[in-house]
Amino acid sequence: MATTVATATRATENKTQTEENSQNGGQQTGHQEIGHKSLLKSDALYQYILETSVYPREPECLKELREITAKHPWNLMTTSADEGQFLGMLLKLINAKNTMEIGVFTGYSLLATALALPDDGKILAMDINRENYELGLPLIQKAGVAHKIDFREGPALPVLDELMKDESKHGSFDFIFVDADKDNYLNYHQRIIDLVKVGGVIGYDNTLWNGAVVLPPDAPMRKYIRYYRDFVIELNKELAADPRIEICQLPVGDGITLCRRVK
Ligand code: SAM
Ligand code: CA
Repeated sequence: MATTVATATRATENKTQTEENSQNGGQQTGHQEIGHKSLLKSDALYQYILETSVYPREPECLKELREITAKHPWNLMTTSADEGQFLGMLLKLINAKNTMEIGVFTGYSLLATALALPDDGKILAMDINRENYELGLPLIQKAGVAHKIDFREGPALPVLDELMKDESKHGSFDFIFVDADKDNYLNYHQRIIDLVKVGGVIGYDNTLWNGAVVLPPDAPMRKYIRYYRDFVIELNKELAADPRIEICQLPVGDGITLCRRVK
């Protein structure tokens, strides 16, 4: 089935990947898995991970959602299957119950989260686009986890500001996944650092920004990569210097920085 998905998206992906190959610091890329940004040493190695440990364990509903998302013109935005598996494992390891997600798209990371939480777990999910969320919603419902999700359509920042006004929400989240507009990550950080509990975890996604964080400023880059690059670099510096958190930046997907709140 993965092969079918790959074939369906090949035309778009090939173009995108070819552009990226010349723009990502000279890495050999070209892997067809949607959402994969090819940070690993070789595609064969990534394929090995997918085929050995990810696809055989991927729940049917996530697989179906991945296939639907592959047909979307913006499929590159999705969370890849291996990152979804990683998030699920992390949530179980920390016994997360009350969570937040900023940036839903068609809902791959959202469904992976919903499946990992206990039956009374909660996800406050925000996205400016409801249409894409509704593409994946039938699968979320079919999986029997829709009751865990409180979806809010609109920009995330005003919702966070509202939460900040309510003292009872401070320190109330076990896990927060940030995967939306990179130019707002530091604004999100200012707020969610108070909303996550001490000992809780924030995951900032795409912190290696397609490898562009190490490119010289005059290197050729696609417009959106160039635009957000400086925000991602600034975020990485700020997180590394923030005494309220311990951090761990992992080359999973497009890079995810885990922040554990310590004070
Ligand atoms: N986590 C998603 C997944 O697993 O497929 C991918 C999210 S995608 C990379 C980024 C999403 O952020 C888009 O769906 C976009 O509509 C949303 N977004 C952009 N700006 C936003 C904002 N200010 N507030 C909330 N969501 C926003
Ligand atoms: Ca992402």
